[in-house]
Amino acid sequence: MKYKSNKQKNYKNISCPHCKSKEIVKRGTFETKAHGKQQRYFCKSCNKKFIKRTAFYRMRNNPKKITLSIDLFYRGVSTRKVQEHLRAFYPHNASHKSIYKWIVKYSKIISQFTDKLKLQVGEEIQIDEMEYHRRKYHTKRGVDKNWFIDIIDSKTRFIVSAEYVKAREQKELKSVLKKAKQKTGEQVKIITSDGLLAYPNAIKKVYGFSNKTHRVNVYHNQVNASRGEGFNIMIERLHNNIRQRTKTFRGFHGSVDSAKAIMKGLEIYYNFITKHQTLKRCPYELACPELKEKLNNPNKWLALIELSNQSL
Ligand SMILES: [Zn+2]
Repeated sequence: MKYKSNKQKNYKNISCPHCKSKEIVKRGTFETKAHGKQQRYFCKSCNKKFIKRTAFYRMRNNPKKITLSIDLFYRGVSTRKVQEHLRAFYPHNASHKSIYKWIVKYSKIISQFTDKLKLQVGEEIQIDEMEYHRRKYHTKRGVDKNWFIDIIDSKTRFIVSAEYVKAREQKELKSVLKKAKQKTGEQVKIITSDGLLAYPNAIKKVYGFSNKTHRVNVYHNQVNASRGEGFNIMIERLHNNIRQRTKTFRGFHGSVDSAKAIMKGLEIYYNFITKHQTLKRCPYELACPELKEKLNNPNKWLALIELSNQSL
């Protein structure tokens, strides 16, 4: 076979997956059913051919079908119903288990990117926990009691940090608080929480204690619900929404690991995909305004997957 001789260019973001060389030339295109026309490259250093590895590399289904399924799922459609929908409109059938796998896979990919974002927030964050019962793997009866611990910023309503965990003790609270601190730096001055006894110490450990003022470096606004003090409406409203949406999740059939990923996807959905009712825009538009232009695609799931892929 003869190829058009192609002058070597520096292709942005492309290096040889075999030897990491940047000496790359284009070598024709080919077509697949799932992904359409694709560019083939040739490495002049090791003489091997390759294609660009996107987040959809080796997937039998195309990005549109995959992101459409993820979007439907987070809008409250069960994986079985998504499958029925796909069967009606796409020739190649996917099982509801594949759809579940896509949700887990791409939630993980996107969160690797979103978990590293630096946020512009207000001075108060609110932390809270909600209880979940997850069906045990391989058994029909047993359930595990798990927790979803999350922190939102009062100003932008962005979910700053959240984790699906097995307990709500020091270790778990500290982990969620630590991530919030990494993403918000010195901006937070007040942390509002319920009366859970583990909070004061966890906050002290993460935010530090000043020997000068004999105080924790952040003000802990602990609200005691049993004394009838109203807890933060904002995070309660968020939790009502999450409860509503997770009803169709059917007790997270699977491992803790996949439940974690599913909840990561929900965090992404809340922060980036849906407009907040009061703010009339997505929380990310306020908390990470630099992303507004980059996410200027009506299919935000796809835009987020592509952004995550570039930053890896
Ligand atoms: Zn090479």
